[in-house]
Amino acid sequence: MTALPVTPDDIAAARARIAGRVRRTPMLADPVLSARLGVPVLMKAEHLQETGAFKLRGATNAVLSLAPDALSRGVVTASTGNHGRALAHAARLAGTRAVVCLSRLVPQNKVAAIRDLGAEVRIVGASQDEAMVEVARAVCDEGLTEIAPFDDAAVVAGQGTIGLEIAEDAPDATTILVPLSGGGLIAGIAVAVKALRPGTRIVGVTMESGAAMIASLAAGAPVEVEETASLADSLGGGVGLKNRVTFPICRALVDETVLLTEAEIAEGMRHLAAQGHVVEGAAAVGTAALLAGKIHAKALAGSPVVAVLSGGNVDPALHARIVAGANTAEAA
Ligand SMILES: *Cc1c(COP(=O)(O)O)cnc(C)c1O
Repeated sequence: MTALPVTPDDIAAARARIAGRVRRTPMLADPVLSARLGVPVLMKAEHLQETGAFKLRGATNAVLSLAPDALSRGVVTASTGNHGRALAHAARLAGTRAVVCLSRLVPQNKVAAIRDLGAEVRIVGASQDEAMVEVARAVCDEGLTEIAPFDDAAVVAGQGTIGLEIAEDAPDATTILVPLSGGGLIAGIAVAVKALRPGTRIVGVTMESGAAMIASLAAGAPVEVEETASLADSLGGGVGLKNRVTFPICRALVDETVLLTEAEIAEGMRHLAAQGHVVEGAAAVGTAALLAGKIHAKALAGSPVVAVLSGGNVDPALHARIVAGANTAEAA
């Protein structure tokens, strides 16, 4: 096997680098699901991470890995979601600039949230593609460094610190359920956990509509897929046709993948809400897969299973509609 683009040593270094700037989130128990399945069901609570999602780990590691002159010039991204928030926060903490390029179509509340975290927001064009053109221009003309949301070795190493904490806090777990989009989260966790406990099964979970990494793994190379709106909006987007980091790691280390319907994701959100955990759709997929019977109890072989709750940034009105019984992202 050729060497993977992120190593366990990279993750150990990331842990030391980001210590004190990210929370060591707790491992929580799900007593209801544990009783139903007859195995301990645990939850890695990254929805309680600073900025509301695990993305802060990767963004912080990437920012702090920059050479001093690049760090002083600043960073840029086109992410409207949790990565944009994380990068804004990480840059502010590191005392440098973050520029976030957004299209005119991005809702005002998202723009305000990123601005409130200290980023300089640039509204450019009417599509994500046009925002990406401005990112390229800022890299060229202003010397900013683009920090990609997942296909970046330093970002993946930062997300991998979650794997180290899971191995410490749930040493007997033999299955880890990880929300899967571009694959930065699962790639980091897989590299960390497989080095410490090679027998652990790493399962990627995502929504049926637009499962780009799963389609890419099946095709043997990165491919594009059509996307539709999903409750798991943080799992949207492709893997990048020029993917260099997360595709090879996922191909080598992800043991299994699971696809969910919108109704199954909604059920996961309701189940977690009933236990006081407010999470976004993307974060509920591991729980949802267990509830839907898509992770067979036999495969768990009596050992603990860990679901990664990846983030809690959900529109309160949407969350309320789901808790009240809605099964889709669209308002009735
Ligand atoms: C980004 C994100 C994911 C998916 O992470 P990838 O590294 O793109 O696979 C899952 N959940 C939440 C909340 C996210 O913000």
